[in-house]
Amino acid sequence: MINDPITSLKGIGEKFAEDLAAMDIFTISDLLNYFPYRYDVFEIKPIAELIHDDKVTIEGTILNPPSLRMYGRKKSRLVFQLEVEGVVVKAVMFNRSFAKKQLQQGDTVTLTGKWDAHRLQITVSQYHKGPANRNRSIQPVYSLKGSVTNLRLKKAIAGAMKACGSEIPELLPEHYLQAYKLPLRTQAVKTMHFPSSRVALKHARRRFIYEEFLLFQLKVQLLRKRKKEAAKGNAQTYDKEKVQAFIDSLPFKLTTAQLKVLQQILVDLASPYRMNRLLQGDVGSGKTVVAAIALFAGITAGKQGALMVPTEILAEQHVQSLKAFFGNKVNIVLLTGSVKGKKRQQILTDLRNHHVDIVIGTHALIQDEVHFADLGLVIVDEQHRFGVEQRRTLRNKGLHPDVLFMTATPIPRTLAITAFGDMDVSAIDEMPAGRKEIETYWVKANMFERILHFIAKRVENGEQAYVICPLIEESDKLDIQDAVELYEQLKAYYGEDIQVGLMHGRLSSAEKDQVMQDFSENKLQVLVSTTVVEVGVNVPNATIMVIYDAERFGLAQLHQLRGRVGRGEQQSYCILIAEPKTEVGKERMRIMTETTNGFKLAEEDLHLRGPGDFFGKKQSGLPDFKVADMVHDYRALETARTDAEEIIKNNWLQTPDFQPILAYLKDEGVFSMKLD
Ligand code: ADP
Ligand code: MG
Repeated sequence: MINDPITSLKGIGEKFAEDLAAMDIFTISDLLNYFPYRYDVFEIKPIAELIHDDKVTIEGTILNPPSLRMYGRKKSRLVFQLEVEGVVVKAVMFNRSFAKKQLQQGDTVTLTGKWDAHRLQITVSQYHKGPANRNRSIQPVYSLKGSVTNLRLKKAIAGAMKACGSEIPELLPEHYLQAYKLPLRTQAVKTMHFPSSRVALKHARRRFIYEEFLLFQLKVQLLRKRKKEAAKGNAQTYDKEKVQAFIDSLPFKLTTAQLKVLQQILVDLASPYRMNRLLQGDVGSGKTVVAAIALFAGITAGKQGALMVPTEILAEQHVQSLKAFFGNKVNIVLLTGSVKGKKRQQILTDLRNHHVDIVIGTHALIQDEVHFADLGLVIVDEQHRFGVEQRRTLRNKGLHPDVLFMTATPIPRTLAITAFGDMDVSAIDEMPAGRKEIETYWVKANMFERILHFIAKRVENGEQAYVICPLIEESDKLDIQDAVELYEQLKAYYGEDIQVGLMHGRLSSAEKDQVMQDFSENKLQVLVSTTVVEVGVNVPNATIMVIYDAERFGLAQLHQLRGRVGRGEQQSYCILIAEPKTEVGKERMRIMTETTNGFKLAEEDLHLRGPGDFFGKKQSGLPDFKVADMVHDYRALETARTDAEEIIKNNWLQTPDFQPILAYLKDEGVFSMKLD
């Protein structure tokens, strides 16, 4: 009965059914599961408590015959006065000329609309004659199509509820309902459409939030499991003792967070499945060391490793730091576009003959003429630059290496576990001990002179500074003009004492390299730059980061920029020059001054911007939940995730309690879907 077409309900004919079909409602069950997207709460509060610009509901007596004024044929304005708690309130209704006949002097009416506390005026969006019905104070609002109205839909749902309400099947096992005190599905569906109270609604919503997250997590995790089992990989039997000895030989003790993610990676290496893992960690949290240890483990298993980075400068830096870690235990080579001729040929031969253990370079290094004897592990720094294409290239060479992606852009956990459903995610969420926290200040533009003076003092002390230019989005050209202007200004200000450099996107890469080199050798003390300096550069001696127009940057980008300093022994400073106009803008600046924790910032950013914006609209690929909200309900998401793990691990889907869920998952194709 519940799965019958809606036309089997009394009062739903072909025409109505057609409109409902456009809303994806075909069966009675569909109709019952079509939940309101919001609720209007008609709660009558004393006038004195009404907030300006809020949507409010008031109840009163009409004092004068409403006066109507027409503008053209359709537009109109109806005005009358209302007595509410002995106060005279003005009511304005637009384009509802028909209401003039319904509303008379002396009538009691209930009005809902936008409140103007200064004028004591309400702009009415909904009204009904008579006193406010206190039992009906929570009104569901549905999203509608065609000629379907809210009222009509509600009536249809009421009919469906009456006919089939008792047939609504339970999906969740008893155990979870009890553990989390969730209402039965029958009860919860009823409450979603006809809430008896706020509390009841809250619990019904809680139920569906959990249900949605649990089903989603089961789907994602089962798919991931299938993918893993299907992915041919190699079980790298690494030498535990050698790896431990290497860890012991490091000049510092690994942090707990580093040890934890390292363990996860080593388990992946040893497993016969292909690793597909994302390693997140703030700038300076120590990802590179972890990468080095993983590469080393692979080498003890007789494999080769590759480390891919976005730029040549970074590749060179990594070669240096890895050589420092490994000494001569390991044979490392650098392979970039600039390595040419005989040297290049030699490297290619060595790779093919397994005379090289680790190759570091830009992403060209896994393409074209590069062939490995036995590639076991590929590590990709800055994950977004490695795509499907590169994977295919590897596969075409008959290689199935484990792949580890590293990113310094912290992605809030809530998003990471949903958006990267098919990847394992690890996070280094702790900084090595003894780091000096960067001090962050938010100042106005009129402080610029003082900032320049401050820079001069630090430079006297042997330190260096970045000055990031005002950001002009409209045009690249203006951007550079501004950079050049600021550069000239600083040069004039500092004269001969302090060398100022300039960096922007229009410089050739040779010029950029030269500027960076001069800066890292302290031939330049102040570097004026556009945001090109954002990725990866490491100049530990730079201790000041000044960011112009900071309010125009997102939190993530500000955090990346700030990460350019605080890399050495000295106390570092980040100075945000900003005069934000909006509350959100001010909030951003406050958050920046309050925390240097990238994960915390990312969570805050998510709250300020919403998940769609966080990833950029197009590539969001985030699931559409009907009731749940990934940001606000993240605790439920975590719970559901853990529960799903437990269910899969223990094979509970095969037990009787889980049959409804199993049937749902089968329906969704989780067990039959083609894998990429
Ligand atoms: P990331 O790649 O995450 O930005 P790095 O691996 O480059 O960070 O580490 C930043 C600096 O901290 C390096 O100089 C590194 O040697 C050092 N470092 C890494 N781990 C630790 C640790 N556990 N204790 C102290 N210093 C560490
Ligand atoms: Mg790094």
